[in-house]
Amino acid sequence: MSERFKNLIDGKWVDSVSGASFERRNPANGELVATYTKSDARDVDAAVAAAAKAFKSWRLYPAPKRGELLFDAARILNDRKEQFAREMTEEMGKVISEARGDVQEAIDMTFYMAGEGRRLYGQTTPSELPNKFNMSVRKPIGVAGIITPWNFPMAIPSWKMTPALVAGNTIVFKPASFTPRMAVRWVEVLQEAGIPDGVVNLVIGGGEDVGNAIVEHPDVALISFTGSTRTGVGLASRAAALNKRVALEMGGKNAVIVLDDANLDLAVDGILWSAFGTSGQRCTAASRVIAQRGIQQELVERLVARAGGMRLGDGLDESVQIGPIVSKGQLQTISGYIEIGKQEGARLATGGGVATEGALGKGFFHEPTIFDNVGRSMRIANEEIFGPVTSIVPVDTLDEAIDIANSVEYGLSASIFTQDINNAYRAMRDIFTGILYVNAGTTGAEIHLPFGGTKATGNGHREAGTATLDFYTEWQSVYVDFSGKLQRAQIDNQ
Ligand code: ADP
Repeated sequence: MSERFKNLIDGKWVDSVSGASFERRNPANGELVATYTKSDARDVDAAVAAAAKAFKSWRLYPAPKRGELLFDAARILNDRKEQFAREMTEEMGKVISEARGDVQEAIDMTFYMAGEGRRLYGQTTPSELPNKFNMSVRKPIGVAGIITPWNFPMAIPSWKMTPALVAGNTIVFKPASFTPRMAVRWVEVLQEAGIPDGVVNLVIGGGEDVGNAIVEHPDVALISFTGSTRTGVGLASRAAALNKRVALEMGGKNAVIVLDDANLDLAVDGILWSAFGTSGQRCTAASRVIAQRGIQQELVERLVARAGGMRLGDGLDESVQIGPIVSKGQLQTISGYIEIGKQEGARLATGGGVATEGALGKGFFHEPTIFDNVGRSMRIANEEIFGPVTSIVPVDTLDEAIDIANSVEYGLSASIFTQDINNAYRAMRDIFTGILYVNAGTTGAEIHLPFGGTKATGNGHREAGTATLDFYTEWQSVYVDFSGKLQRAQIDNQ
C-alpha cells in the first residue's frame, strides 16, 4: 500500500479543497511510489493567509532562535539521511550515492544557514554629523513563494527555504509534481524541529494551478524559482507586472575545455561524472566538451570506451552508475535531440538509443551518448538537452575554446583541464559563467559559495553562500540622531 500525502497549511496536514489526487510512479520500474493531494488556487489562498499571519510573529522571534530550530532540523535530516536517499531514488531515479549527496547538501545548507542566525551582519559606519549614529540592518520581507524542480528534490528546497527562514520570512512551498514526497519529508523535518505553525506551508500540485496562483497572489512578496528558462521567464514577466522580487535559476549548456596539455586521465573522469551523473539531468551537466585537436581523438576514444561500460539500472542497486530519466516525456525529448544531432551531421560516437534490455524495459533509460565533430552552431551544441548526452566540439586554440564556451545563451558553469597555470588563469578571467572549475568537471558546487549563472541562466541573483541573503532580506539604513537638534545632512556639515 503506497502512502497518500497531503498539504501542510497552518501546521495541519490537510487535503486540497478539490479533494483530487495524482500519482507518482518510480521511473526505474513503473511501480507506484505515492499518491498526492492535487491543489489549486484555493489551497494557495489558505496557505498564503497562514503564512501572512505567521509572519507577524516569526519576524520578531530572535534570529539566533530561528537558527537554533534550523540546527535541530539539520540534525533530524542527518538521522534520516539513508531513508530519505532511498525514497528519493525511488521517486526521481538518481543513483543512491547521488541521492545521499542530495540529502547531504540539504544537511550542509541547513547547518550553514542556522549559523547565520547569529550573524545576519549589517554595517555600522560613522556619520558625517556630530552626535549621530548610522547603521544598516537586514529586514525580512514577508511571504516567500518557493517553486522548485525535481532534479535535486531535497537540496534545492533547502537552499531556498533555510535562508528565507533564518532571515524571518514565512513560506509557501510548491515542489515539482515528480517529487512531492521529498518535499513532504523536508517539511516534516522542519515541523518536527519546532518551526511554528504557518511559517512553512506546503501546497502540492501542478505549475499551472498552484505555481501561477503563488506568483499572482498579492500577499506573496518574493518568488524563488528553479526550473526551465521558458517557465522562469514567463513567471518573471507576470511577477514584474506586480512589482515582485524574483530570483531565477534556469538552464545551462556547460562546457568542459580540454587542452592539449591536460591530464587526460583526470579529464576523462571529470567529463564522465559531469556529463552522465544524474543521467545528465543537472543544470550544471557537462553537455559540451571543447577539445583541442591534439588530444581530440584520444579523448574521444577513451570516453567512448568508458561510457560503453557504464552500468544502467535501478539506482537502488549500488553498482548502477546511470539511473533512469525522470519521465517518458523527458526521454522522448532526449531521443528527439539524438535525431537532431544526426541530421545536423555530427558523428554519433557511442550510445544514442533508449535502453530496453531486460528490466530496463520497465523504466525510462537512455544510453550514455557522445557526439563527436560537433559544429559550434549546431543545435546540440547550444540547446539544453537534460539527458546523458554530450557533444565534442573540436578547436585549435585556447582563444577559440573560450569564445565557444561563451557563445551559448546560458552562463551557469564551465571547466578547463590544463596543466599550464597561465591557461587556467586566462580561462578564469575570460569565461563569463557564474561558476568555473579548474581541473574538475562542471558540477560539484559547495554550499557556502554563491551558486547561479549569467545571461539566460538567471536574473542576477545568487543562491547559497551569504550572497543568497541579499535576496531574502531588504536593507534598512537607520540614522539615530542624539544631538537634540535638527541636523541636516549635506547642509549643516559644510
Ligand atoms: P522542470 O523541467 O525542472 O520541471 P519546469 O520549469 O517545468 O522545469 O518546472 C519547475 C517548477 O515550476 C515546477 O515546480 C513546476 O511545477 C513549476 N511551474 C511550471 N509551470 C509554472 C507556471 N506557469 N507558474 C509557476 N510555476 C510553474
